[in-house]
Amino acid sequence: MNLHESKDLATESGINKTMPVLFIGHGSPMNAIQDNKFTRKLNDWGKMVSPRPKAVLVISAHWLSHGTRLMFTEKPETLYDFGGFPAELYQIHYPAPGAPDQALQTKNAIKSIQVTEDAKRGLDHGAWTILRHLFPDASIPVYQLSIDYNAPVRYHYDLGKELSVLRNRDILIIGSGNIVHNLYQVDFDDLAAPFAWALEFNETVKTALHHGDHEKLINYQNLSTSASLAVPTPDHYIPMIFTLGLAKSSENPIILFEEIQNASISMLSFQIG
Ligand code: ZN
Repeated sequence: MNLHESKDLATESGINKTMPVLFIGHGSPMNAIQDNKFTRKLNDWGKMVSPRPKAVLVISAHWLSHGTRLMFTEKPETLYDFGGFPAELYQIHYPAPGAPDQALQTKNAIKSIQVTEDAKRGLDHGAWTILRHLFPDASIPVYQLSIDYNAPVRYHYDLGKELSVLRNRDILIIGSGNIVHNLYQVDFDDLAAPFAWALEFNETVKTALHHGDHEKLINYQNLSTSASLAVPTPDHYIPMIFTLGLAKSSENPIILFEEIQNASISMLSFQIG
């Protein structure tokens, strides 16, 4: 056996292979049915993920709850948790099976808090609008973990740390939100020029990511004067912080896509590991 064959065998058996972590800026639900730079990138990205995941765990901006809930649903429905979009969007189904076995592993890995099992929850649009581009055949089981909206940002960072063990169990973890997300200021023209504060906050976050400065990112209100406009509520920001908790100290995020959509939504997306 030569060295090349040895490496391939190790990869196939999962030896020494830690699953990457993705943060994806999901933006408008319309991305689900659009063919654009972002969705083409997701399509390529899904093919690059190695090893092939046995399950995907998504923490999405669109599952907010009291306490932390974990999806145990066997056949999750596709949720249309938005209003006022074209009928075509409501015809999309993402029929991936659920992942109750991996959900149980996840629950068992969390020692610091009580997690509530939810066997009825479906997939929200923070999950399925990106998954249908990443993994179009919907054959990989999917489950979700909620955001506890009463808990501080740091709680979700610490939860990420606790769940980093899942990266060695062939589980791909995806945070789905947006680093800059202000719907009050949104411009419905896709090509609208970005607001200066959106660009400024986006650049500040990129610099902090580059330096691995997680503390600054957790305390985002102090990151720049643009913070209150860029992150008026933390729901879309928290999934990014969760993914940073999953990173090893030697791993810095690699930015794989960036764009400001609708003037006030950063599509910045990265991979860790
Ligand atoms: Zn969203």
